[in-house]
Amino acid sequence: MTAKYDFDLFTLGAGSGGVAGSRRAASYGARVGICEDSRIGGTCVIRGCVPKKLLVYGSHIADEIDDAKGYGWTIPEAHFDWARLIEAKNKEVDRLNGIYIKMLDDAGVDIVHGRGKLIDAHTVQVGERIVTAERILIATGSRPHLPPTPGIEHAITSNEALDLPELPRRIAVVGSGYIAVEFAGIFNALGVEVTMIIRGDLPLKGFDEDVRTHVVEEMTRRGIRFVSQTRVERIEKTAHGLEAHLHQSDAVIPCDQILYAIGRIPNTGDLGLKALGIETGLLGAVIVDEWSRSNVANIYAVGDVTDRMNLTPVAIAEARALAETLFNNNPTTFDPEGVPTAVFGQPPIATVGLTEAAARALGRPVDIYRTRFRPMKHTLSGRQEKVLMKLVVDRESDRVLGCHMVGADSAEIMQGIAIALKCGATKKQFDRTIGIHPSSAEEFVTMRDKVADL
Ligand code: NDP
Repeated sequence: MTAKYDFDLFTLGAGSGGVAGSRRAASYGARVGICEDSRIGGTCVIRGCVPKKLLVYGSHIADEIDDAKGYGWTIPEAHFDWARLIEAKNKEVDRLNGIYIKMLDDAGVDIVHGRGKLIDAHTVQVGERIVTAERILIATGSRPHLPPTPGIEHAITSNEALDLPELPRRIAVVGSGYIAVEFAGIFNALGVEVTMIIRGDLPLKGFDEDVRTHVVEEMTRRGIRFVSQTRVERIEKTAHGLEAHLHQSDAVIPCDQILYAIGRIPNTGDLGLKALGIETGLLGAVIVDEWSRSNVANIYAVGDVTDRMNLTPVAIAEARALAETLFNNNPTTFDPEGVPTAVFGQPPIATVGLTEAAARALGRPVDIYRTRFRPMKHTLSGRQEKVLMKLVVDRESDRVLGCHMVGADSAEIMQGIAIALKCGATKKQFDRTIGIHPSSAEEFVTMRDKVADL
C-alpha cells in the first residue's frame, strides 16, 4: 500500500522546537520531514541563547581578572580581542549546527533546505519542491522587531550584535527586556560605554519589583547609564558616529552603535496562513490551544511563533508533548506552571513562580522574605556588588509561591529551587533543608524574618 502523503509530519523551521518535535515524532516511527531556510539550529543555537551565553562568559572574565587582585594575584595588563572571541564563538556555533544536522539525520528526519509555504492543509512548497504531509507543524520562530523610527536603518539588533566586526566604544541599547539587559551587560563588561534608553521607569517589566530596582542599582554601579521614561525619536548618522535623539527633549545620546531589543515578532508573514484561514493573533502569532493545535485540525504550532512563553525549553517541551500526543498515543500538554527563567545579565537574574505583586493580586495573604548581602567572594575582591534573594510565601498554606534572585550563579541555583516549587514545597520545608556552607544559595534555606507587612 502506498502512503497517501509524503510524510506523517512535516515541520516548518529547524529551531529548538521544530527539531525536538521532529526527532521525537521520528523516534516513534513517524515519517518526518523538516524545512529550514537558514541554518539548522534556529535562534537559540545560531543567533540567540548559545552565542549570547558564550559572549556573557567571555565578557565576565574581565570581572574575574579585576577580582583576582584581592586574592593575591598580580596579572600583567590583560588584552582582550573581540574578533578572536567572535571567531571562537562562531566555531562553537558551527559545531553545534553540525550536531543538530546529525541528530536529524540519525533520527531519519528528511531535511529540505528552503522556506516553506503552505499551499493547502496538507501541502507545503519549499522552493521548487512540493511536499505533502498528514500533519504540519509550524515552528518558524520569531525575529527582532524594529520600529519605524527615522534613521532605524542605522540601528542593529541582537543578530548583528553577536557578529559586530569590532567592539564599539559607545553603545545605546533601546529596550529593557531580556535581550537589552543581557547585551548591556556584555558590552559594559568589555569596557564599552553603555546607555540604556527605556520607555518605562525600570527594566524587566513583569519581574518582581525588588528585582527590577536591584538590577538597576547593580547595573548603574557597573557604569551603565539609564535614561528612562523616554523613547528615541530619530537616529542620525554624523561624522563621529550615531546620535539617538530623544522624544520631547533636547537630549541626544551620541554613540557608535544603537542596539534595538524591543521584543520579537513571530515569523508568519509569508507562510500562507491567511489563505488557509489559520487564525493569527497579535503580530501574526499562530493561535493554538493547549494541544498546540491551530484552528485547522491537522496544523500545529509550537515555540516563539505562537508567542506564548518565548523560551527555548518551553518550545522543546511543547514540541515533545505534541509528538507524544500525535505519535505515541500518550496525550500530553505542556505545563506552564512554575517555569523558571533567567536573564543572563551581569549580575544574572533568575526567577521561578509568582512575583510579590502577582501573588498579592490573587487576593491571598502572602509573607515576604528578603535578604540583600555582599557575597563572601567580594569580601576579598573588594567588589561592592550585592546579592538579592526573595521568597514569596502563601500565608495560609505556607507554600512558596515565588523565588527570585539577582546575583552570581542565580540561574544555576534557581533550577534546583524550581524543582522544589514544582513539588509544592512549603517555607517550613525550605527551613528544614540544610544549607551548603559557605555558599550564597544557603540563604534560601535560612531566611527567618518576614518583611514587615505594608
Ligand atoms: P522582551 O519582551 O523581553 O522586552 C521587550 C522590551 O522592549 C520591554 O522592555 C519593552 O518595554 C520594550 N519595548 C517594547 N516596545 C518598545 C518601543 N517601541 N520602544 C521602546 N521600548 C520598547 O523582549 P526582548 O527583545 O528582550 O526578548 C524577546 C523574548 O525573547 C523575551 O521576552 C524572552 O521571552 C526571550 N529571551 C529569553 C532569554 C532568556 O531566557 N535568557 C534571552 C533573550 C530573549 P516596556 O517594559 O516599557 O514594555
